[in-house]
Parts: sequence; structure tokens; C-alpha cells
Amino acid sequence: AWGAAAGSRRILLAGPRSFCAGVERAIEIVDRALTRHGRPVYVRKQIVHNLHVVQELEQRGAIFVDELAEVPTGSVVVFSAHGVSPAVRLQALDRRLQVVDATCPLVTKVHSEAKRFAARGDTIVLVGHAGHEESEGTLGEAPDRTVLVQNEQDVDRLEIDGPVSYLTQTTLAVDEAGRVVDALRARYPHLTGPSTEDICYATTNRQDALRAVVADADLVLVIGSVNSSNSVRLVELAHRHATAAHLIDDASDIDPAWLAGVHTVGLTAGASVPPRLVTEVIGALGGFGETTVQERQVAAETIRFGLPKDMRTEAGGRR
Ligand code: SF4
Repeated sequence: AWGAAAGSRRILLAGPRSFCAGVERAIEIVDRALTRHGRPVYVRKQIVHNLHVVQELEQRGAIFVDELAEVPTGSVVVFSAHGVSPAVRLQALDRRLQVVDATCPLVTKVHSEAKRFAARGDTIVLVGHAGHEESEGTLGEAPDRTVLVQNEQDVDRLEIDGPVSYLTQTTLAVDEAGRVVDALRARYPHLTGPSTEDICYATTNRQDALRAVVADADLVLVIGSVNSSNSVRLVELAHRHATAAHLIDDASDIDPAWLAGVHTVGLTAGASVPPRLVTEVIGALGGFGETTVQERQVAAETIRFGLPKDMRTEAGGRR
């Protein structure tokens, strides 16, 4: 029925994949805010960069807004996992909003470093993507002392006097960011950096996991939304290994033409992607012929983040 797409094939599942601890915590926080305050609960920006997560929370009473100006005075507002700048916190105070903070603790760590570096008089070079919510938030900690670079060319254009330190967005490609930091160190030999890597464990593990399957795959499918930085980095990683790869939001995005001549599909999902979407994609691939599923797990993820203090004791938060 599917022409060239029909045939038996192997699915190589990259592990770890899907939800990270920061995303699970952020969704749980919106859940609990809904239980405690009732609907609606406002959320500034997408809580995590995933279409399905956002749609499901909308159905349960979350209202997503771009700016705090859209939130009625006195309402409950959740800050997304990507974090916010101090200016946004001030604005929330001004508008007497009840803030619930779902910023991932690993993003908060980067903010703390930004404050520390700025306080000692450094110019901070932030390696990240312009316009990404996380970078905007981090830049906002010390806007007059921070410059954003996206690549090695941007490093060449820098003109900084005095001490220089760097920070990175949490969801970059590990190898690419490493090259940018090398270029920075070449220009500024006294460069100082974060105490531990800013690229988070989840981003790193998902890249390592895909690297372990990409060489054996004829096609890589990455489940994730277009604005999900860590998901897009996974597609690029496959492309750098000269393997065809597509970003899909769910099984309905699979184009049967991609499967022609493909014996092995490498499958992964970004850190904001619900695990059930992976199951659905495996099911959909099964519709094209007999499939076997093999998982390659490169790391075990046991990390969990606690909820904000005033949310811990409360019942609720069912999913
Ligand atoms: Fe936190 Fe990393 Fe997950 Fe982002 S991808 S929410 S930084 S654990």
C-alpha cells in the first residue's frame, strides 16, 4: 500500500531520549498551579518548547502569553523552564502577579554564574542563539556586561578590554560550542569559564546517544518541535554524520517517501518530548512493514529536581 516505503526494517532507539528532569518538573509545576489556583493559570512563553505539551496544558486551563502585559493584574503566572531576566521579575512585581517559577535549576545555575562574573567586573561572552528565550534571560542578568556570540566568526569580531569569561546556553551542540570556546580562548588566553559545563546533562546525553546509532542508520527521525533548540541540534548532528534526518512533531509528520530503501531508522526525541510520542512513532513505522526495535542506552538518567519550596507539601499534580 505504501509502495517504496513498504518493507521490513529495524528501529535503533537512542537512549536517553525524551523528557529531562527540568521539563518534567516544569510540567508538574503548571499542573500543581492549576490544582491549587484553578483555571486559568497564565504561563509566560511556552512552558517547554513542545507543541503537544503546550496543547495538553492549554486543554487543562493554562493560557500561554508572550508578555506579562497580557496577564491580568493579580493573576497567577508561571515562568517557563527557560528562565527570565531580572527585568521580567520586576515587571511581574509591578503588576502584582503571583509568580510561580518553573525555571530549570540548571538554567538558574547559569544565571548565578552570570551574576558572579559580572559582579567581579568581567565582560561575559554568552555562547548561544540570538532570540532564544534562555539566552535572552541570561543576557538580562548583566545586559551591559554581556555579549552574545553564535559562532567562531562572531568571536573574531569581538573587541573586549579587561577580564573575559564565558557562559553557554544549556542546549547547544557540545562539539560546536567547544570550538567556539576554543576560539575564544585563543583570543583571550585568560578566559575563565563556568565551574561545571553549562550545556546540561540531558543535552549531552541525547547527543551522545544519537552518536551511538547514527553510523548504523540510513535515516534518523528526531521527534521535537521546530523551536526546540536541543531537538534541532540532534537533527544537525545526524546531518554532520552525513545521514538523512528529519525533525517531526509526531507520527503524522512522517513522509512515506523518506522510508524508501531505508533498512535502519535511528529514532530519538528531544528533552521536551513526551515519551508516548516515541511509542506512537514506533507504531506508525510498524504500519509500513515488519519492524524490530533495538535500544542502545549510553547513559542512565536518575537525576530529579525538587519542586519549589511552597509546592512541595501539597497533594495534587496528577498527570
Ligand atoms: Fe534543564 Fe537541560 Fe532539561 Fe533544559 S534540557 S530543562 S537545562 S535539564
